[in-house]
Amino acid sequence: MRWVYLDNNATTPVLPEVLEAMRPYFGEHFGNASSIHHHGQETRAAVERARESVAALLGCRASEVVFTSGGTEADNLAIFGLTSGGLVRPGDHIVTSTIEHHAVLNACKHLAAQGCEVTYIPVDGRGLVDLADVKRAIRPNTKLITIMFANNETGVVEPVAEIGKIAAEADIYFHTDAVQAAGKIAIDVKQIGCDLLTISGHKLHGPQGAGALYVRKGTPLEPMLYGGSHERSRRAGTENVPGIVGLGKAAELARAGLERGEDLKMAASRDHLERELLGIEATGLNGEGAPRVPNTTNIYFDGIEGEALVIALDLKGLAVSTGAACSSGAIEPSHVLTAMGLLPDRAKASIRFSLGKQNVAEDVDFALGLIPETVGRLRELSPVWAGAGVVSRKFAR
Ligand code: PLP
Repeated sequence: MRWVYLDNNATTPVLPEVLEAMRPYFGEHFGNASSIHHHGQETRAAVERARESVAALLGCRASEVVFTSGGTEADNLAIFGLTSGGLVRPGDHIVTSTIEHHAVLNACKHLAAQGCEVTYIPVDGRGLVDLADVKRAIRPNTKLITIMFANNETGVVEPVAEIGKIAAEADIYFHTDAVQAAGKIAIDVKQIGCDLLTISGHKLHGPQGAGALYVRKGTPLEPMLYGGSHERSRRAGTENVPGIVGLGKAAELARAGLERGEDLKMAASRDHLERELLGIEATGLNGEGAPRVPNTTNIYFDGIEGEALVIALDLKGLAVSTGAACSSGAIEPSHVLTAMGLLPDRAKASIRFSLGKQNVAEDVDFALGLIPETVGRLRELSPVWAGAGVVSRKFAR
C-alpha cells in the first residue's frame, strides 16, 4: 500500500541528513555538555555549532538563542518568563489574538486567572489581525503583545513586522510564535522587531522535543525551571544534545533550501493541489486573499464531516487533518476557523493539507486521485447534502 503524508504542519519526518548528524550523539559522543573533560567539550562544541545554525536562520546572535524542549515550552518561557520576571503583574495587560496555538492561548488564560488582563484581537474573514485593533488594544498597563507569525491551520501570515513597529513605538515587549513560519519563509528578527520568537524542531524536519526561543539581548527573562545555570541561566537542565544537534542541522538545511528557492517550488505544488480541489463543487479556501506560508492549504468541503473524510482518506493511504479538536467527547469546530467567521458546520467540513520537503509531485497526484471521489461518496451518504445550491445556504452565513 502506498502512504502519502500531507500533514506536515502536525509534524515533519526527520530528514536523513538530520538523523545522520544526530546519530553520533546517541553513541560515541555521549558527554554531558557541562563536563569539562574531553567528552563534555565535544558535546558542548556541537551544541554551540547548533546555536550558530539556529541564529543564522533567524538573523540573530548565537547568544540570543535559548534551547527548549519544543515550541510549547518556548512559548511558555516567553510569556511566563516576562511575567515572573516582575514585568507583568496582576493588573497588567497582555495583547494576543483569537487564532493563537493553545501553547499561547492557554498560557494567557492562566495569566488571566492570576489577575492579568488579556485582550484577544479578532481576525477578519481572511484570518488576518487588523493593525488598528492592535493599536487600539494598547493601554498604559500593556506589557506584552504575543501574536503568531503563521497560523498552523490556515498558513496565514500575520503582519508581524508592522506589529513589531507598533510594539516598539509603545515600548511594549513583542513575542511571536514562528513555529509554522520557520523553514517555510525567511525570518529576520531585526526586520520583525520582536523581542522573543519561538521555533520548534519537528516542524522543520528536525526532531520532536527540541525547540528554541530567540531572546533579544537585554530582554529580562526569568527562567521557568530552577536548576543549573544552563543556557545562560535562562533554561535549567542538561541539554538534549542529540535533539539540539538535529535542530541545528534542520535549521541549516532550511536556510539552504530557502536560498535555493525551494519555497517557491513548494508553493507551486500547493497551488496545483489547491486549484484542483477547489474545482470540486461547494468547496472554498480558508484564508483566501491573505499571504500564506507556501506549504499549507485549508479547504472546506460543504456537506461532509471533516473527521469522516480524514478517516476515509487514511484508509486509502493519505494522511491529512482537520483543525477540529475532540473535546469532552464532542468534536468542536476549530477556534481558528470560527474566529474567521465560518459557521460550525463549515469549520467542521474543513481539511488542512500541508506539504513537506519529502513530498514529490506524485504525492499531490495521489491525493488528487483520491479526494474528489471520496468527497463525492461521503456526500452521497450525508443526510445534509442535497446538492451544492441547497447545502451552501446551510453552511454559509
Ligand atoms: N505553536 C504553533 C503555531 C504550533 O503549530 C505548535 C505545534 O503544533 C506549537 C506552537 C507547539 O510546538 P511543539 O509541538 O514543539 O510543542
